[in-house]
Parts: sequence; C-alpha cells; structure tokens
Amino acid sequence: KGVVHRICAGQVILDLSSAVKELVENSLDAGATSIEICLKEYGEERFQVIDNGCGISPDNYKVVALKHHTSKMTNFTDLQSLTTYGFRGEAISSLCALADVTIETRTKNETIAAHLSFDHSGVLIGERKTARQVGTTVTVTKLFSNLPVRSKEFKRNIRKEYGKLISLLNAYALIAKGVRFVCSNTTAKNAKSVVLKTQGSDSWKDNITTVLGVKIFCCLQPVNIDMPDGCKVDGFVSKPGQGSGRNLGDRQYIFVNSRPVDIPKVNKLVNELYKAANSKQYPIVIMNFSLPTKECDVNVTPDKRKVFLSAETSILLALREGLNQIYSPTSA
Ligand code: ADP
Ligand code: MG
Repeated sequence: KGVVHRICAGQVILDLSSAVKELVENSLDAGATSIEICLKEYGEERFQVIDNGCGISPDNYKVVALKHHTSKMTNFTDLQSLTTYGFRGEAISSLCALADVTIETRTKNETIAAHLSFDHSGVLIGERKTARQVGTTVTVTKLFSNLPVRSKEFKRNIRKEYGKLISLLNAYALIAKGVRFVCSNTTAKNAKSVVLKTQGSDSWKDNITTVLGVKIFCCLQPVNIDMPDGCKVDGFVSKPGQGSGRNLGDRQYIFVNSRPVDIPKVNKLVNELYKAANSKQYPIVIMNFSLPTKECDVNVTPDKRKVFLSAETSILLALREGLNQIYSPTSA
C-alpha cells in the first residue's frame, strides 16, 4: 500500500517546482498576502514555504496530511465554479509520501502555534507548541529520498530544477496582485542570498519592474484583446526587435484565469507572428487569458499545468488577429 501511495504521489509531485507550486498555491488559497520561500542547497536539502494566511485549525491537525483531505470543496458541483487552486487534497499527503514534512501553523483563534510532524502515510506523529504569527510554514526535507531512482535524477538536475522553480515563482509574483513574494537560497558555500523580492503591488507595472526589471518593462507594449464567448486576454508583448528571451520560451508567462499554465500553441503563435514582424529574437510574453470557467479545464494533468481549452480554435484566431493589429497596424 505504501508503494502505491508513493507512485501516485510521484505523479502529483513531479519535481521541485511542482512541489513548491502546490505549497505556494495553498498559501494563496489561505489568503496570504506574504509568501516566503526558503531553499537550502537549491531545494535539494530542504524547502520551506512561510505564509501569513488563515492557518490550519486544531480540528484539522490529524487529517490535514491524509489523502483526499481538503477543506476547499463542499460538493461536486463546486468543480464548475472552482476559484481556489487546490481542491483534491493530494499535495500535502503526496509530499509526506515523498519527503519528511513538518507544519507550523496558527489561526487567529489560537494564541500559540502548533508544530506538527507526519509520517510517510500522512499520519500525525508529533505535536508540540511553538511561537508563531498567524499563518502556516510547511517544511519539506529531502524530497524523493525514498525513491532512489528519482532521487538520483533530482540531485543531478538540481540546478535546472531550481531554474524552473525561479521562473515559476516569477510567474506568481507577476500575476498574484497584492501578494508579497520573497525567495532565498542558502548553500554551504554561500550565505543566504535573496533571489526574488517583490512588494506585492496591485499593478502590472510595479510587478513587471521588480521581477523582470525596468529595462524590460520599457520594451513591452500592452495587449488587450476581446475574444468571442466572453473570453479576453490582457498582458504585454515585447516590441519587435526590442526585448527578448534568451532562448525559446524564456520569459514567456502564460496564465489562464491568473493561473500559470503551459499552452505551447500560444507560445508558438506569438513567436511566429513576432518573427514575421521582422524580429530574429523571441518575444517576451506576459498574457493572462480570462475565460469563463466552463471554457477551460485546468485539471488535465495531475500537476495542473496543462489546460484544456474548449474554445481553443477561436481563442487562437482572435489572438492572431489582435497581435497582427499590434505588430503591423496598417496591414491588418
Ligand atoms: P487542497 O489544496 O487540494 O485542499 P492540499 O493537500 O494541498 O489539498 O492541502 C490540504 C489541506 O490543508 C487544505 O485543504 C487546507 O485546509 C490545508 N492547508 C494546506 N496548506 C495550508 C496553508 N498554507 N494555509 C492554510 N491551510 C492549509
Ligand atoms: Mg493544495
């Protein structure tokens, strides 16, 4: 039974960035306005997500890490109108199966926080009092250490995984308005270094400037396209010949209803139009598609990165027309 749980867990938690993503989304779901991510040895040794959200109430200490425990969905029709990131109660239980997990948490109703530890089945095995502000800290130590093959792979690719994680955190820092993000990494060789720090502004401009830099902000132009069936896209693309990613897909941030996602067809289309507009480089892209929830299904893959858009064809067509207007206003 333990083995099956570990295998399933390995499908939700694919790598470092999917693990941290789940924790960050839990913090966002908990209404946090400040989220701090602390890595040790690029996340290989340990990672920690510290938030100032609502905390976990004592009734839930025993169940929080059990498979399919969630506080977020009350009945099945809720799936249609889902507004929280999580709802399947798989992340914490999966992390427990694949690593050593502890949680420190406090709600506004307690004066003191609890430090909780769990075994690999998500069973609460330790509970003591500790001091903490309202909010939650989840600490994950030695991810994948009980999956020898995955563990080896993880250690070998850690710099790449770290890069992917920073890019994902940048995406959240761009889109999550009003949420302050800090990410730091500590290694044996180097003292703690802060790799991302935002103020949690409500404006695109501030967030783009802090995350990507003022130089990049200056070479962007806004994109606001209305599409059929109540869909629209808002964001920015770089002006032809100006700002660019270092390589394919770099600095291209796509969101659906403010969720970071992969829609390779969108990247492909934007790259193609950018090239046609006489640029040899790849554009910087920040695009948030606002779609009625019935038009998209974010739950295609366990890590929720891939989305299925029922209106994909008409969305891509409208995007093409809209971008053509921007890139070559006269010919469109
Ligand atoms: P899901 O997010 O799908 O509900 P998770 O396994 O990610 O499932 O989390 C299980 C439950 O633990 C959540 O429903 C929530 O009640 C609680 N939880 C996890 N992380 C936090 C957090 N940072 N703040 C408050 N509650 C949390
Ligand atoms: Mg979750």
